[in-house]
Amino acid sequence: MAKAGAGGAVLEIINARLPLADERHYYTLRAENGVWTAIGRQSGRLEPGGYLSLDMPEGAYAKRLDAEGKLVLPGLVDAHMHLDKAFSLPWAANRSGTLAEAIASYSRQAPLFAKGEIKARMTRMALQAVSYGTTSIRTHIDVHAEAGARVALRSVEAALEVKEKLAPWVRVQIFPMAPYRAQPGFGMELIGEMLAMGVDGIGGAPHLADEPEAHIDRIFELADRYGCPVDLHVDESDDPGMRTCVYIAERTAAYGMGGRVVAGHLCSLSAMNPEDAAYAIGRLAEAGVAAVTLPAANLYLQGRADRRAVRRGVTRVKELAAAGVPVAAASDNVHDPFHPFGRGDLLQIALITAYAAHMGAPSDLRQLLRMITEIPAGIIGISGYGIKAGCEADFVVIDARSPEELFAMQPERRWVYRAGSCLAAAAPPAAWADPALADEWAAARNVGFAGVLAER
Ligand SMILES: [Zn+2]
Repeated sequence: MAKAGAGGAVLEIINARLPLADERHYYTLRAENGVWTAIGRQSGRLEPGGYLSLDMPEGAYAKRLDAEGKLVLPGLVDAHMHLDKAFSLPWAANRSGTLAEAIASYSRQAPLFAKGEIKARMTRMALQAVSYGTTSIRTHIDVHAEAGARVALRSVEAALEVKEKLAPWVRVQIFPMAPYRAQPGFGMELIGEMLAMGVDGIGGAPHLADEPEAHIDRIFELADRYGCPVDLHVDESDDPGMRTCVYIAERTAAYGMGGRVVAGHLCSLSAMNPEDAAYAIGRLAEAGVAAVTLPAANLYLQGRADRRAVRRGVTRVKELAAAGVPVAAASDNVHDPFHPFGRGDLLQIALITAYAAHMGAPSDLRQLLRMITEIPAGIIGISGYGIKAGCEADFVVIDARSPEELFAMQPERRWVYRAGSCLAAAAPPAAWADPALADEWAAARNVGFAGVLAER
């Protein structure tokens, strides 16, 4: 099987534009054995000579390519997905569109999903995300402890198997969510077992617990014991009085875990008055807590009870960033009761973030690209990331010449590389370089109700 990075060949790309670095010039990018060895600024645009166009079908897997001025970004980083829930909507409806019904609906259904079925949906979701340019994913995993250990462990076993199988194509980090409804002792015992099985850290949604602070205490105690990072769903609510984020910041500081704690959502922060929000943001910044905004799911789920000036649930992206909190944008849910849309495409998420957070200035567009690349890479702890000598040659070429064109046109045509090997090419026929994955690739790109239901 042709694993990514195998072959040890030299890859050279001329006439690339690097919007995260310096977009005024063209660059020549050179990788050997899947690692960037030289990134050189050109004095002007080079004649293609022996370099093949990305548009040519046979050029897709060539080693000397002419990017023709297209944008090249490092592999996109989706810092917050739910691979286990993806494409589950046909079996877990959400008629009210609220977070409460989404949770109840999915919880009823979760014990009925067989492991193979969960693995199939996770694989499809991950590969579909790769096809849009994502090469790193942090996924949260539901832990339905109230349904017993067997059900609770099933999704994590599935996730670990999918992570290993897809390792040549995409980096996956697994964060099981600490159960907030089960007996606390049993719930945390399960999470401990999962950490021993090899998951990457602890997730959770402590604002949903009866006693959020006690739940947060248990999560931090366990993280401290295992020396692992924490990534929580925080204050996913329209209630301005919901402010577990401040307690999470306190615990982060107390355990010296700055840089290893992520707060996702932070919806109630946007409902607070500006003074209270500034206080909470200050505590997060001081403690070194990073933030992830999930605008697609929150625009869909939040504000459902509002009858005028509907709250949108999207956190204070600009204020957090201005205070020095690293803020990433991520997908959250895809085609499940929490969010019926989406496709695991971070360019789409960046555009939704632009609308939701009022970010449209030229500097905003470049910041949004950082929010789906280097910022989440830093937040989830990927080392050796970027288009720089010595870093792994994970990247996506996008059919646009500027961030402005990228946001306006949302180009479908992308060429995705991992460790210097082409995983997916936009030029027809769109196919994986590895024939072993061709069927899964086809399924990933043709996913829909019909496909999902046929598999059932
Ligand atoms: Zn989530």
